[in-house]
Amino acid sequence: MAKKIIIFDTTLRDGEQSPGASLNSKEKVQIARHLQMLQVDVIEAGFPYASPGDLEAVRTIAREIRGPQIAALARAKKEDLDAAWEAVKEAENPRIHTFISTSDIHLKYQIRKSREQVLEEAVAAVQYACRFTSNVEFSAMDASRSDLDYVAKVFTAVIDAGAKTVNFPDTVGYAVPQEFGAKIKYLTEHVPNIHRAIISVHCHDDLGLAVANSLAAILNGALQVECTINGIGERAGNTSMEEVVMALATRKDFFDYYTDIVTEHIYPTSRLVSKLTGMIVQPNKAIVGANAFAHESGIHQDAVLKEASTFEIMTPQSIGIKESSLPLGKLSGRHALRDKLKRLGYTLTEDDLNQVFARFKDLADRKKHIFDEDLESLVEMEVLRRSVPEYYKLVEMVVLTGTMAKPTATVKLEIDGKVERYSSFGDGPIDATFKAITHLTKSECRLLKFSVSSITGGTDALGEITVKLEEDGHIVTGRGVDPDIVTASARAFLNGLNRLRYVQEAGMAQAATS
Ligand code: MN
Repeated sequence: MAKKIIIFDTTLRDGEQSPGASLNSKEKVQIARHLQMLQVDVIEAGFPYASPGDLEAVRTIAREIRGPQIAALARAKKEDLDAAWEAVKEAENPRIHTFISTSDIHLKYQIRKSREQVLEEAVAAVQYACRFTSNVEFSAMDASRSDLDYVAKVFTAVIDAGAKTVNFPDTVGYAVPQEFGAKIKYLTEHVPNIHRAIISVHCHDDLGLAVANSLAAILNGALQVECTINGIGERAGNTSMEEVVMALATRKDFFDYYTDIVTEHIYPTSRLVSKLTGMIVQPNKAIVGANAFAHESGIHQDAVLKEASTFEIMTPQSIGIKESSLPLGKLSGRHALRDKLKRLGYTLTEDDLNQVFARFKDLADRKKHIFDEDLESLVEMEVLRRSVPEYYKLVEMVVLTGTMAKPTATVKLEIDGKVERYSSFGDGPIDATFKAITHLTKSECRLLKFSVSSITGGTDALGEITVKLEEDGHIVTGRGVDPDIVTASARAFLNGLNRLRYVQEAGMAQAATS
């Protein structure tokens, strides 16, 4: 009989550690709701000891999300474990996930402890965590580079101490599949009490092998996979959830394993995570990339039209890419909009619906057909915009440009409730706009990244701009959409500035973690 693989999603913890991907509490909850719809088994919501902001975000998720277990990460230290429990205790089914390094290289250079000390601390941490809940997971950080017999010894001891899940991470993305699988098999044979715990793996993609290593581990006895949406995470990222899930689903003939993931929610969740973190999905990314189901070769196209299975091993519908449905237009009312949004999986408060409706009407005046993608973007941008206070608000702007004119932008902003206006020249219309905004907001931030993409085809498509800004070590992502690319840029820049000021005022420092 097929065995179930537990999907442990760490998009909100390891994924959020992607450089510049930081999410605030409202955004984390928004993603958690999608993870709930996906029916992941465990949501690792954050690392509460790292910052008060993270603790609060985990607590909100623990309160609001029902269904998946909610896990919090903690080092093997009392204060971390206390914070973790404080954050998850109101969850329906809370989990504490504690970790310590086990590799000699980490012991010697990072934590300066002996193997005996680490073993003792691991056991003490698990025992302490078990006072709060029986649902305790232990991770041996850098396990793939640790002495395997030593890890087996630590696992035996922590399982005796009460750990229900033991995680074997490839923290630095060093392992290769055959070797990694063999290590998991070794543990099943050399940890005498292993039948009392679930073996989990947590792989990083430094060599592009995270998914392959996770699958090798499954074939050798691991029953939990830690992963993230779009594979985001530290450095080259983590195991990509959609790849593991679809590999198991598509190759049922080979893998005698299944997951509870509702695959039709994969694509919408992927898009949301990309938007909120500012981490763009590469077009050729497996499963969720823009080209994942695009057939370019004429021979392939012809065959797919005759019979999709000739060149398609899975259908776009199975991961939730919808056939383009009837677009809305400027005569569509609030009711039609609400209905449509509901079918796209969004239930908005009256207030949010009003805001989205106003932007929808404005857009419908300028663009004939409003597609599902446009609406999703409007909703997500609205959520994104409202997830931080609007210290700086765009009132209006006028831009003059062309081959004969020096680009000039006049921008009117509402700053802390007061309306101010400024005009500036620039090398181009966007440069002029940014200069005017910089002058008005007196910002000293650096623009690290500026990227443009269009949401649907056609010259009237919505332009989506992403900016990455840095000031005093804080890095934030700002996004904006508008049919006008210069206005979209201004919106993205202002969104970034609002977020920057928000993190500065909240003092939400990002702490470095495992
Ligand atoms: Mn990790």
